[in-house]
Amino acid sequence: MKYISTRNQKIKVSAAEAILSGIADDGGLFVPESFEELVFPTERLIKMSNNEISAKVLELLFGGEGLFGVTASQEEEFERIKEVVAEAYDGYFEGGDIAPLVKVGDSFVLELHHGPTAAFKDVALRLLPRLLTAAKKALGETAKTLILTATSGDTGSAALSGFADVEGVDIIVFYPKNGTSAVQERQMVSVSAENTLVVGIRGNFDDAQSGVKEIFSSLSPQKVRLSSANSINIGRLAPQIAYYFKAYRDLLLRGEISFGERVDFVVPTGNFGDILAGYFARRMGLFVGKLISASNSNRVLSDFFESGVYDIRREFVLTRSPSMDILISSNLERLIYFVSGDSECREYMSSLKEKGFFTLEKGELAKIKEIFDGGFCDDEDTLATISDIYKENGYLCDTHTAVAMKVAEKLEKELCEKRVVLSTASPFKFSKSVLKAISPSLSENIDEFEAIDRLEALTGNKCPSSLKGIKDAKVCHELVIDKSEMKALVEKRVV
Ligand SMILES: *Cc1c(COP(=O)(O)O)cnc(C)c1O
Repeated sequence: MKYISTRNQKIKVSAAEAILSGIADDGGLFVPESFEELVFPTERLIKMSNNEISAKVLELLFGGEGLFGVTASQEEEFERIKEVVAEAYDGYFEGGDIAPLVKVGDSFVLELHHGPTAAFKDVALRLLPRLLTAAKKALGETAKTLILTATSGDTGSAALSGFADVEGVDIIVFYPKNGTSAVQERQMVSVSAENTLVVGIRGNFDDAQSGVKEIFSSLSPQKVRLSSANSINIGRLAPQIAYYFKAYRDLLLRGEISFGERVDFVVPTGNFGDILAGYFARRMGLFVGKLISASNSNRVLSDFFESGVYDIRREFVLTRSPSMDILISSNLERLIYFVSGDSECREYMSSLKEKGFFTLEKGELAKIKEIFDGGFCDDEDTLATISDIYKENGYLCDTHTAVAMKVAEKLEKELCEKRVVLSTASPFKFSKSVLKAISPSLSENIDEFEAIDRLEALTGNKCPSSLKGIKDAKVCHELVIDKSEMKALVEKRVV
């Protein structure tokens, strides 16, 4: 499969090149040239293991080009991809299942947070370093790779965990100094691997993200290749497609649905990567009904689905679901490309950059709304939802998941009978908010680290082992800079 830029179809590269560079030279994002050949064998789904599903998705998207070092036969390549998946996943997810499906009330919750950093980003970032290393080998590239990542909290820790000590790769993570939870920050700044650097930015996530984008478009170092671990990288998006198929298989196995029945997915959304993976799954043949994008009070996306106007000229709100505190959802660009084509997409993106908004044509919005819809949930409702679900079902969910649960409830009337809500983080990762929701008095005057212990004692739920003892983890990174200093910092390292 070849990959093209969302802003210019003529920019066409191999899968290896798309993974390695992360973003197209014109600032566009890479998308598959066509979905015609990307047909998942859904009739075999019920017999496939988790790793086989992941391997199949990777084979469809990236196979047949020598990326995995095997060109002899399709069967041999598939076996190699399965090995790559097993190396990335086996033994790294508590309980063994990368994505357990749990029934909670009228919904099925797909728990994606059992990996090393207790958020769903592990699913992709366990695999990305392997895809990147394979891409370098396939292209014969020996230069060092420098991964630049902007994070609202979870990408940073998952990327650091995935790339720590990977040979030939350095990683710099930029995070908003006051925009993450204390647990998220400690997870990042306690990573001691030699090839890692973690930097706080005086600003919000969008500042960090636009700073990184700016570096990509203005720096072209000779000896080092810059790349990205953000969901603008197609290698990050691909592994996320698999768990939509996996959820569907589990519903089939449990007799909850019959083959071919459509299922809706409700997704806590920030950068629009996770939900876009659901769109890819649908284009690859999965029986997806609607994809519901759930926002917090930074409701740019839910407003967009209502009006067709994407407008970031508004106040940025810090919420209790910080991983979704985003105004510029980068991956929406890919959806816009599929609906409107490259030249329109280019125009919309330059309007967004120059004027702070763009407006879809009516027909384009209608096309999107055949598959997508959006809703939002503020902090007050987020806490009330955590409390209600805990009282009614004995189920503890985090703030991001709660946003999606609430939006699912709000939109219930337009949804299919069966719906899956993606659970993107462990409740222990946002311990203080979750404790406040279920016991306001117990949460007073304590920090997030103490809240973890109290939450565990109060609910009997087990804290993920990676978060246990996080408060005693040694801080290895203390640098805090202005956004305007980001480029100079990177420049110093690459020339
Ligand atoms: C990153 C993240 C999201 C948003 O996912 P996107 O792919 O950026 O839309 C939601 N919840 C949690 C916990 C996250 O870490």
